[in-house]
Amino acid sequence: MSGKLSILGVKVDRVTRKEALEKFAGFMDKEGQSLIVTPNSEIILNADKDPRLKELINNAAMVIPDGIGLVIASKQLRQPLEERVTGIDFAHSALEWCAANDRKVYFLGSKPGIARKAAENMMAEIPGLQIVGARDGYFKAEEEEDVARAIAQTGAEFLCVALGSPKQELFADKYKDILGVKAAVGIGGSLDVWSGTLQRAPEFYCKYGLEWFYRLIQEPSRFKRMAKIPMLFIKVMFSKKQEE
Ligand code: UDP
Repeated sequence: MSGKLSILGVKVDRVTRKEALEKFAGFMDKEGQSLIVTPNSEIILNADKDPRLKELINNAAMVIPDGIGLVIASKQLRQPLEERVTGIDFAHSALEWCAANDRKVYFLGSKPGIARKAAENMMAEIPGLQIVGARDGYFKAEEEEDVARAIAQTGAEFLCVALGSPKQELFADKYKDILGVKAAVGIGGSLDVWSGTLQRAPEFYCKYGLEWFYRLIQEPSRFKRMAKIPMLFIKVMFSKKQEE
């Protein structure tokens, strides 16, 4: 599988988990920062309304199809994606790659204490993994540059940033010259999961593409955000009709 799929003008890479990891390995040996975005339906809808976000995603080094909504949309467009690659699974594989290749990692984001706990858990789980720094994602706009400088000082080469979207992508892009990392990925709620604060959906939900439903049970406050998702399918259908 290769090439890109355009969903409402957002270009998503048609990559499997294995291909995504191969690309990641390439980024780690390249000059400059490669930004990896893992959009779900909500992010595609936001990008449809926000040209700045759309441009940022379309200029990213890799856009991974996270979210069952993207798989459904790809079928509507008659260009079905082979598989869904969740951001958290991709990031986990990337951490394993970093451990095996002696590359340093930084965890930024989530509530105080979460990033540190997630780092401890992942270092216990993945032998040889070097997480050289971790801090929470609740700092003021005027502190952003100092946060970026502190990350640079650790010598990290891979940044996992969990500030919610699009804040995480905007941060990584804005400070790319200061950060000096080879790759940065926005990972949403992954640090909450790795820290043990949030449960990942059991296999049953994943198998039937119902992870979103499980998340809704855990965080009912997300209902208003999730209720907008069917809008993606309506918009994709409408955009397809216009093309026909
Ligand atoms: N978050 C953060 N700083 C902020 C806003 C959010 O560190 O200013 C964290 C939040 O604690 C959570 C993560 O970003 O761990 C993802 O947030 P959310 O679930 O809203 O984003 P999504 O996964 O839906 O992109």
